[in-house]
This record gives sequence, C-alpha cells and structure tokens, in this order.
Amino acid sequence: MEIVHPNSIDEALAGLGDGAIPLAGGTDLMVEVNFGHIRPERVIGLRRLAELKEWDGQRIGAGVTWRRIETHGPKALAEAARTVGSPQIRNAGTIGGNLGTASPAGDGHPFLAAVGASIELASTASQRTLTWQEFFTGVKETARRPDELIMAVHLPAGLPERQCFGKIGIRNAMVIATVCAVVTRADDGKTTVALGSVAPTPIRATGAENMISSIGHPSAGDLVEFQRLVSEEVRPITDHRSTEEYRRHGAGVLARRLLERCLS
Ligand SMILES: Cc1cc2nc3c(=O)[nH]c(=O)nc-3n(C[C@H](O)[C@H](O)[C@H](O)COP(=O)(O)OP(=O)(O)OC[C@H]3O[C@@H](n4cnc5c(N)ncnc54)[C@H](O)[C@@H]3O)c2cc1C
Repeated sequence: MEIVHPNSIDEALAGLGDGAIPLAGGTDLMVEVNFGHIRPERVIGLRRLAELKEWDGQRIGAGVTWRRIETHGPKALAEAARTVGSPQIRNAGTIGGNLGTASPAGDGHPFLAAVGASIELASTASQRTLTWQEFFTGVKETARRPDELIMAVHLPAGLPERQCFGKIGIRNAMVIATVCAVVTRADDGKTTVALGSVAPTPIRATGAENMISSIGHPSAGDLVEFQRLVSEEVRPITDHRSTEEYRRHGAGVLARRLLERCLS
C-alpha cells in the first residue's frame, strides 16, 4: 500500500482516481484495512491540507475533527460530536470522514439533514455542491465520485436556537447508534425532525414535521401524535444491533423527548 502525503488540495486531487483512497483521521478506513475488507493500492493522506481544516462561519471544512465540533459547533451538532467514540476517536475523526463512510448510523448526519445542509465536492475538473438528499444515496453509498474530495459542509444561515441531538444505544459511551435524531424548532413553530440508523440514509419525518409545525403550543396529546407519526415514517431493519420494532418505537420516543426539550 503506497501512502502519499500531498501538501496542497491540487496535489491531492491530482492523486485521486485509479484506486486511490483518501485518508483523513483513519478511524473508519483503517478499521476496514485492518479487517482485510479493503486493500487500497494507494492512500492519499489529507492531514497536511490546512484548507480542509478551515471553518468559516457556515462552512465547515471536511477535515474539521469531532473534537473541534464538540467545543465550537452549533448546539445539536456539538451534542452529536460528544457521543462519537472516545476522546481519541474525536481527536482524529472528521466530519468529512463521517460523510465519506456514510454509515446509516453516522452521528453527524441527522443534524445535516435537520438543518438542510449541503456538501461541497471538488475534483481536478469540477466543483459542485449537493444537497444532503443528493449526497446520500444508500447504505454506505454517496454521490461522491472516486476522483472527488469532500471539501466542506455548508450550513444555512439563521439556524434555530432550539435544537437537540439524542442517541439510543446499548450503553452510554463508545456506542454506535441504534437510533439517533435531531429536532429543531424555530420561533415561528417550524419544526424539523431528522433521524439516523432507521433507514439506508438519514431521513426527515416530514409528516410529523408538518403536523407539529402548525401547532403553536403543542398539548400532551399532540406530542403523542407526533411520536406516532415519527414511528410510522421511519424505515428500519432488524440487524445485530436491534429489531425493526424496537428501532421504530425508539425513533418515536426519542423524537418526542427531543421536541419536549426544544419546547421547554
Ligand atoms: C472505536 C470507534 C468508535 C466510533 N464511534 C462512532 C460514533 O459513535 N459515531 C459515529 O458516527 N462514528 C463513530 N465511529 C466512526 C468514525 O470515527 C467516524 O465516522 C469518523 O467521523 C470518521 O472520520 P475519519 O476522519 O476518521 O475518516 P477516515 O477513516 O479517514 O475516512 C472514512 C471514509 O471517508 C473517506 N474520506 C475521508 N475524508 C474524505 C474527504 N475529505 N473526501 C472524500 N472522502 C473522504 C475515506 O476514504 C473513507 O472511505 C467510530 C469509530 C471507531 C473506530
């Protein structure tokens, strides 16, 4: 395995394609290599690329670590960052790597879906920005082409102050999500609900969003109906981490509790 350490974005982009794979923190990629699931011929190390670590207002560079997001990110994204692995993992792992892997359980994804973020990609030939819906195409699949780098995440301006992340797992720390979710609530009542680990890609529960957004002061009954709609809208599977039924129930309960936190 050849390892290349480019000093500029142009150099990195020129090295991509032909079986070369980008390496950021390595907390996903090296697990795959160690288990023998992949044998890349060439690895393009991204750590020297200062541009990927830039964080300019609403634009978060792909190389920004969870450690930085934990301390400086918007509230719900910072809450998500705090649950990613251990301090060692958060010091190395990046938001770009989380997107590159595109695991359905990626803890960064519900926030991006809840606020309507977009993802900036670049190759030697082009630069493009995709909505989060365009970017995630399936389980561990994205619209990124092999010759492209994820450059940054773009957040919209004016994020709602009331925003909460939550995660259900088999223990409290170092756990991959059985369900994870973000709820945001704006001053005019507009509510967004995005969930991870309950479908091949992150999803928004739009029926639940529409129902609760139209109610200024939701009653206990409205919250129960919101929970029911979220549970109905998710598309979980049964796997080694959970049954479909548990995920469906957990998604509704988690979303309702996060909404209650936003409303309190
Ligand atoms: C012990 C442990 C616990 C973990 N816990 C969690 C958890 O709780 N929640 C969670 O979401 N994740 C968790 N992870 C997974 C991982 O830490 C995160 O997904 C992390 O964000 C990956 O970032 P990275 O920089 O290490 O990516 P890497 O491993 O370097 O790369 C991951 C993938 O993205 C690609 N890639 C990286 N950067 C770019 C780029 N700029 N452009 C294009 N492609 C790119 C790589 O080629 C690779 O395919 C855990 C991992 C471990 C080992």
